Amino acid sequence: MAAALSIESVKSQAKGLAYRNQAFIGGKFVDAASGKTFDCTSPIDGKVLTQVAAGDKEDVDRAVKAARAAFEDGRWSRQAPAKRKQVLLRWADLLEKHAAELALLETLDMGKPIGDSARIDIPAVVNCIRWNAEAVDKIYDEVAPTGDDAVAMLVREPMGVIAAVVPWNFPLLMAAWKMGPALATGNSMIIKPAEQSPLTMIRAAELAAEAGIPDGVLNVVPGFGETAGQALGRHMDVDCIAFTGSGEVGKLFMKYSGESNMKRVTLECGGKTPNIIMADAPDLDAAATAAAWGIFFNQGEVCNAGSRLLVEDKVKDQVVEKVMQVAKTLRVGDPLDPATQMGAMVDDTQMNRVLSYIEKGQSEGAKMKMGGKRILGETGGYYIEPTVFDGVKNDMTIAQEEIFGPVLSTITFGDADEAIKIGNDTIYGLAAAVWTSDIKKAHRAAKSLRAGSVWVNCFDAGDMTTPFGGYKQSGFGRDKSLHAMEKYTELKTIWIDLS
Ligand code: NAP
Ligand code: MG
Repeated sequence: MAAALSIESVKSQAKGLAYRNQAFIGGKFVDAASGKTFDCTSPIDGKVLTQVAAGDKEDVDRAVKAARAAFEDGRWSRQAPAKRKQVLLRWADLLEKHAAELALLETLDMGKPIGDSARIDIPAVVNCIRWNAEAVDKIYDEVAPTGDDAVAMLVREPMGVIAAVVPWNFPLLMAAWKMGPALATGNSMIIKPAEQSPLTMIRAAELAAEAGIPDGVLNVVPGFGETAGQALGRHMDVDCIAFTGSGEVGKLFMKYSGESNMKRVTLECGGKTPNIIMADAPDLDAAATAAAWGIFFNQGEVCNAGSRLLVEDKVKDQVVEKVMQVAKTLRVGDPLDPATQMGAMVDDTQMNRVLSYIEKGQSEGAKMKMGGKRILGETGGYYIEPTVFDGVKNDMTIAQEEIFGPVLSTITFGDADEAIKIGNDTIYGLAAAVWTSDIKKAHRAAKSLRAGSVWVNCFDAGDMTTPFGGYKQSGFGRDKSLHAMEKYTELKTIWIDLS
């Protein structure tokens, strides 16, 4: 779809766009109780797009009440799964019908290339809702192997009121990964989008109502983390928090839970993915090309970005050369241009954070081989060049901390054992990749790498059928696949005496 677009047509569509900017509570758009709003800016040029309702405690409370009432009276929670499926499929159809608008909102709001929003993000959102809808009326509960004098049923029930607090890097998709399974299984929800990128979620909620999701089942409270996010985390009537974001905030949600009602918490946090290229990779050029995309896709604002490139020493120069060759061809610039491959960093704070990591890399002695600077500053937007470091040691800051920007750290190793050791020497465990033609080496690495996903001879592969989530401080709980439904359901035993 985007391939047929010109920058002029995208810009004229953008001009005609209307922004939904209120909270969505109990099936209605409402202002924040305080009347407060915040500036929703575009990282493309730093300009304000609209003022969005700044939700806080009182708004969270209203949303939780609406969600609880909907859950209790069964307007959604007690519908047959086949009925929920029909409604969710209608929602997916509406999201698809409005895909161009949603893609544009996502790009304007957070700066990713329109080609990516249109071809990756929004289709993935539609697919996620559809997949969960299609799945939910095909799942059976269990009967335990008791003797003849009893029947014991093990049933999955919706948890109740689920709050999802999500980040800005894939705004609507990260929400969809939670809404798909949580809504399909009959829960009520409150979504708190990131303050940098609330627009698609607000619009998607309006489409949910149009599709027939009953009032109160899906609520959106935009606002800041310390206010709206914390209020959800501490609310006594929220049953579960599904969080995607930084480890630092993830830990806060565990604390909020412990200090309130012991609500279930699942965390999808950061990563420092080792992308391990052995000298016997089936195709070194293909591996290097994937390594470049693995770090520069979405401006490097990807939790599983291949930020640590681990290369066997004898092929290191060849691989780094190829990575840089690919990086040099990347078109960085206006996200509204369908030809753009790398857009703007989400805001000036994030841009400056990334630039300070680049400085730190140099001061700790890594060799910057390309990039490293802010560019296109005259646009008012927040753009950073693709940046490649060589000569990185794994204990350097740029190899240990999540940068969340287009910055690659190259580290060399001598053999597979050393690669695995370096790969695992991190607090994170979201993903890892290994490139080799040797099936034994591949299998051993895949088993030894402590990460939720390990890719062999590919990078960032997977679809709705495969779970996604972390080991260690990358969090716990899984999005996608049928396993995601475990996060939003309780397991009940019903023992019936027949004696
Ligand atoms: P973040 O700062 O942790 O924010 C995530 C969400 O938490 C936002 O909605 C934020 O609201 C809210 N929040 C912030 N402070 C809070 C507080 N004190 N109490 C309650 N809520 C609070 O993360 P981000 O910068 O938006 O996103 C980048 C991070 O997300 C990276 O670490 C990345 O690795 C991670 N991520 C992980 C996955 C995964 O699946 N594992 C996927 C995507 C991203 P505000 O926006 O108002 O601050
Ligand atoms: Mg924004």
